[in-house]
Amino acid sequence: MKEMPNVLWLEEIKKEDIISVGGKGASLGEMTAIGLPVPKAFVVTAQAFRRFLIETGIEEELFRRLERLDVDDNGALESVSREVQDIVLAAEMPDQIRQEIVDAYARMGADGTVVAVRSSATAEDLPDASFAGQQETFLNILGETDLLDAVQRCWASLYGARAIYYRAKQGFDDRSVNIAVVVQELIGSEKSGVMFTSHPVTGEPLTIVEGSWGLGEAVVSGSVSPDNYVFDLRSERVVDRLIAEKEIMIVPEGKHGTKTVNLSAKQRTAPVLSEAEVARLATLGKIAEDHYGVPQDVEWAIVGNDFFILQSRPITTIKRPEIPHGGAGPAEKGKGALGVVLVEGQGASPGVASGRVVIVRDVKDTSGVKDGDILVTKMTNPDMVPAMRRVSAIVTDEGGMTCHAAIVSRELGTPAVVGTKKATKLLKDGQIVTVDGEKGLIYDGAVQAPAPAAAPAIAPAAAAAAPVITGTLVKVNVSLPEAAQRAAATGADGVGLLRIEHLILGLAKTPGWYIEHGEEETFIAELYGGIKTVLDAFPGKPVWVRTLDAPTDEFRNMEGGENEPIEHNPMLGWRGIRRDLRSPDQFRLQVEAFKRLWAAGYNNLGVMFPMVNHPGEFVEARSMMKEWGVDVENATLGVMIEIPSSAILIEDFIRAGIRFASFGTNDLIQYTLAIDRNNEHVAEMYQPRHPAVLRLIDYAIGVCRENGVECSICGQAGSDPDMVTWLVEHGISSVSANIDAVPRIRETVARKEQQILLDAARRNA
Ligand code: PEP
Ligand code: MG
Repeated sequence: MKEMPNVLWLEEIKKEDIISVGGKGASLGEMTAIGLPVPKAFVVTAQAFRRFLIETGIEEELFRRLERLDVDDNGALESVSREVQDIVLAAEMPDQIRQEIVDAYARMGADGTVVAVRSSATAEDLPDASFAGQQETFLNILGETDLLDAVQRCWASLYGARAIYYRAKQGFDDRSVNIAVVVQELIGSEKSGVMFTSHPVTGEPLTIVEGSWGLGEAVVSGSVSPDNYVFDLRSERVVDRLIAEKEIMIVPEGKHGTKTVNLSAKQRTAPVLSEAEVARLATLGKIAEDHYGVPQDVEWAIVGNDFFILQSRPITTIKRPEIPHGGAGPAEKGKGALGVVLVEGQGASPGVASGRVVIVRDVKDTSGVKDGDILVTKMTNPDMVPAMRRVSAIVTDEGGMTCHAAIVSRELGTPAVVGTKKATKLLKDGQIVTVDGEKGLIYDGAVQAPAPAAAPAIAPAAAAAAPVITGTLVKVNVSLPEAAQRAAATGADGVGLLRIEHLILGLAKTPGWYIEHGEEETFIAELYGGIKTVLDAFPGKPVWVRTLDAPTDEFRNMEGGENEPIEHNPMLGWRGIRRDLRSPDQFRLQVEAFKRLWAAGYNNLGVMFPMVNHPGEFVEARSMMKEWGVDVENATLGVMIEIPSSAILIEDFIRAGIRFASFGTNDLIQYTLAIDRNNEHVAEMYQPRHPAVLRLIDYAIGVCRENGVECSICGQAGSDPDMVTWLVEHGISSVSANIDAVPRIRETVARKEQQILLDAARRNA
């Protein structure tokens, strides 16, 4: 040990040196030796740290304090950790060590090189004890003084509360754990991320690459949802790709540290990597994996055409120490912000919650669902709604942002991740996981105290305290009457879409069942009550109630659903107004409920027909209503524009007498682009702002404006600020957003309107 120098260059390191340079240092040395493109670096060895402890005389004092500590006593853990770290930070670094570090740094580059200073604990990255992320890393360090300070801080971080706790629980003796520090040229990466050289759970030869813009910290810390690419090493092709909304990037700031910057709208949704870049990364990853003989978890960076490998270590997905509860330091930095990511998909409803996995393959399984569980299923059904109310989070294999699970979860305020493709296969009944419904990640273990299942309250007072008046009405979507109060508390200008199928499907019996069993009154009463709840929450504001739009596959599981036709493609089948027109009894019961509400004085009730594809359908529906006694001349009747034909024929609809039209972009996009909105395999091709979709919308808005007909949007795109900015610019008269999105959309609308006014004023000045 005495012989080992204080500083070693990567080129001098072999993997046997792990005891001196830690897992990270040894791995970088090995990678350099096999020719991988590793940025220049030297390591301040573990022996340097030992000499520091001995020569400064702090060693005994420090270990004595640690030995007396009960790590299960959180208060004591925190305070001993602080004391011990202070001792390390206060000690003066011996001259010899200091000089060697300064000399090595000078050899890196003439005018001072910007470096990353990374801890490399010598027990770290051993296959059975991954302590990655427990010790500090300092990025963007420039100059000797800051470098020496960063090295000493890395040393101190060996005694962070979390690190002490883990070591104690893993049976490591503090005296035997050392720390080395890697000082590495900082790559000002334009793109960066991580990759698993083989599938982390199944071990298949699939390289999983996650990437985002800027420095890799954004991906490693989980502060951005990265793009995800799956490269099949057998076919040498990218077989799956999920382009995420990347909101921010981390970049070096000045001479020290980093900062987070917001990405432009274009960068957010642009793919970070080309197919060729993914292939090149996978090849580099494979070299590392072949060399080490086990799948690797690799950090990478790209600058221009230069690829760099920053770190490689064995994947340690399965064996992971339990995360301590309550105050044992900040959340672990690992693959994601909260730990090991088991599965990922699209974040469909924000919030974080932990709980016990319950796999639901059939609605019958929902009887086993307890309060606070994590419901994991292929896709939710309306008859699962009662169970969905009880759980703390929802995870599905299938679906996109507009699927049943996504819509209902958002309304219940329950975190949800959809379109994971394989959650029902990879997760196990009873397993404890944490769901991040914003980033679309499912972590191993209860890595954060469960978020309350209750919906985040939007205080009416808050909405009222800062009223933002917009010329373009900002309304809200509602599907469950129980969400009406939360929806109203947003201060929305009305309800742009009340989906009654959720109400009906929640009854667990089809309309046909009520009709067949002579229970029409019960059905009408249920509808009446549910809609009234929403109308009562929005006195004097328009509430557009949509007639039934449930595809046959959603009815099938309900009582009475046995006779539902089996359709090859229910999305294109027996649903919407086309079904009501051919099922007059079903339509009549809905109309009866509306009639009673109008008679009770709810003049704010408007009725909207879904899935119309020809003005003739509107005319037919209206005349049936007239036949059943509705004063159709004075009723507010409108249509959804969900099929390209209805956008193209908008003028004919207006001539037929619609009072309003509302873009159902969820469907309009799928029918314009031939992309099934619920099919996770084509999810990344589902483009709300595809030029063809925008052209249809633009055209229909124009015609509605010319004719003084209210034109709105109630699809998910109405909750997207960028889309709403575009819509306001193009003259939409109202937008209807999800409950959680209303405040942001209102602000977006206000800002765009003011900009339009300002531009006009300047032009006229
Ligand atoms: C739509 O298609 O955009 C819409 C709002 O209707 P749904 O999501 O219920 O199909
Ligand atoms: Mg629709």
